[in-house]
Amino acid sequence: MNPPSKIVCVGRNYAEHARELGNTLPPEPLLFLKPPSALIGDGDAIVLPRASERVEHEGEIAVVVGKRMKRVSETEAVEGIAGLACANDVTARDLQRKDGQWTRAKGFDTFCPLGPRVVPLRELPPLDQLEIICRVNGEVRQRGRSGEMAFPIPALLSYISRIMTLEPGDIVLTGTPSGVGPLVAGDVVEVEIPGVGVLRNPVVAGDL
Ligand code: MG
Repeated sequence: MNPPSKIVCVGRNYAEHARELGNTLPPEPLLFLKPPSALIGDGDAIVLPRASERVEHEGEIAVVVGKRMKRVSETEAVEGIAGLACANDVTARDLQRKDGQWTRAKGFDTFCPLGPRVVPLRELPPLDQLEIICRVNGEVRQRGRSGEMAFPIPALLSYISRIMTLEPGDIVLTGTPSGVGPLVAGDVVEVEIPGVGVLRNPVVAGDL
């Protein structure tokens, strides 16, 4: 797979998660970018940077774009989806708070596990009936449903396409449900979307 031109992420898209970090739901989707250099695949290690003392998991439903999207309707947006994958929006929570913007906290190498494969929508439950589960060392930490999203997937894609053209291969991370928590060296973190599969990544310490 060629690297995407961009990874667009949505913050605070589940009310309970917004609450657990002391935030309210935004009136419009809250967008940020992760660099494509952060991508790793299933089985690859998440490397904890020494610059952070608190790295957290955020299990998310990832949309992989299949067609160029510029100012698309919600219907056109759904038609332009190549498929879904599991993602982990790994975040250095301390640096996110300290920096005031999120580029460093969200952008370290290995901070965007994605996989284990891209599954087309025809093989999956409807977009508003997906489940997302995140486990650490086998213990469930996060469990959410796409139906709980403040901004559902078609609305998100349409909204983003009015700001930046989405290109084939681009990835959209659709936000995380409540239950985010720390990762330490030796952990194994799993993100599962039933029908898509399980994305599994070990966590290791040290600079790259
Ligand atoms: Mg996130």
